[in-house]
Amino acid sequence: MLILECPYCGVKAEETELHAGGEAHLKRFGPGSSDSEFHDYLFMRENPKGVHFDRWRHINGCGKWFHAARCTMTLEVFGTYSAQTFEPPQDIRDAISAKRPDWTWREFK
Ligand SMILES: [Zn+2]
Repeated sequence: MLILECPYCGVKAEETELHAGGEAHLKRFGPGSSDSEFHDYLFMRENPKGVHFDRWRHINGCGKWFHAARCTMTLEVFGTYSAQTFEPPQDIRDAISAKRPDWTWREFK
């Protein structure tokens, strides 16, 4: 069972108390973008075997959206953080690098 700590209210919640919101840090494309950019925004996702960043909503708690850094193979959680960020905070990246020295995810290391 995946257990995530909500960064807003501090509650450690099982995934059944949360709502998954898909991949984090997507760059959104809308009107005025090229067909290729819009296609990639709609359909292309990382889906890695390993470190991944995704969005969650504390649906049975404070109701806020947050991001989680976790491993898709082991369900190890490296940390959770505010959804109002464009990239993972440095302390989260450091926590991942300490355990997975060779990880990369998009432009993040
Ligand atoms: Zn919460």
